Amino acid sequence: MHEWALAEAVLESVRAEQTARSGQRAAKVVIRFGELQSIDPEVFTEGIQQLQSAEVDLDLEFVFETEPATLKCTVCGHGWSFADCDIDEATREAIHFLPEVAHSFIVCPSCGSADFRVDKGRGVTIESIQFVTQDSAGSSGMASDD
Ligand SMILES: [Zn+2]
Repeated sequence: MHEWALAEAVLESVRAEQTARSGQRAAKVVIRFGELQSIDPEVFTEGIQQLQSAEVDLDLEFVFETEPATLKCTVCGHGWSFADCDIDEATREAIHFLPEVAHSFIVCPSCGSADFRVDKGRGVTIESIQFVTQDSAGSSGMASDD
């Protein structure tokens, strides 16, 4: 239940942020999923919703974004995107779930080294939390979305 533990951690940090801002309520949370991580977004979303329904102090709208993965060669400094890698579908899938195996299948397109790191697109981060003023009686448009 990796996803649920993560969902719990996300709600926990949102609540901490909310507690730190008296008079404000967290309304919208943007979550960014790296292209290369082992989280199932559907399970994660379900976890968030289930956990949130048990929280009286949280009423959140979640927006999920995907961050494309980019790789960076540690030998020559060349950067390239995972999407551009010339690998078959099964390998691509394997790397999605276990990014470490990338080193067995991918080499730097510039110098041929397998010594690269995943520069972007790993893990799950809270991209932003949007707050609204809690005491908004009489006021309108406080939580306007773009
Ligand atoms: Zn290189």
